[in-house]
Amino acid sequence: QLQGLVLLVEDWEDNCVLISWMLENLGLNCIVANNGSEAIHKALKEKPDLILMDIQMPVLDGMGATKALREKDFKKPIVALTANVMKEEVASYLSSGFDACLSKPIEKESFNETLAHYLPASPIAEEKVVSIHELTPEQEIQAIFVKNLPERLGALKTAVAAEDRKQTKFLV
Ligand code: MN
Repeated sequence: QLQGLVLLVEDWEDNCVLISWMLENLGLNCIVANNGSEAIHKALKEKPDLILMDIQMPVLDGMGATKALREKDFKKPIVALTANVMKEEVASYLSSGFDACLSKPIEKESFNETLAHYLPASPIAEEKVVSIHELTPEQEIQAIFVKNLPERLGALKTAVAAEDRKQTKFLV
């Protein structure tokens, strides 16, 4: 079990639900932002101990948000969370102010290891997390999956028809 406040920045609602549950299971409190601009605002206001930052997002992407936060003197760890983890891509994240990079889909072991590297262990066993969830993980993921399926499927069909491999990879 760990302790701290994590700002999760991710534009897909289903990923937000899944990852926030993983954080809460580790004993961490969590707040969510859905794009880079919201992330900058929440990071400066709520002062999280760590940021998990998606790269591809509307309004302002993860690279832009991280650069802006570093310029505003935000010093806490920022971990990239992305499906694009080729060597050059990871190098560009690290040179833009990220501390580390986790791949999507998330591998639980490296996810837990990375968080444990940056955040302190909880001195109190089973310290109560203030959950942001009202439903069980299963109920919530199912509801969001069903809700977002038409939109996601539409975007995927468009990307496949356009032979846009990058976008296709990003949507699956
Ligand atoms: Mn995204």
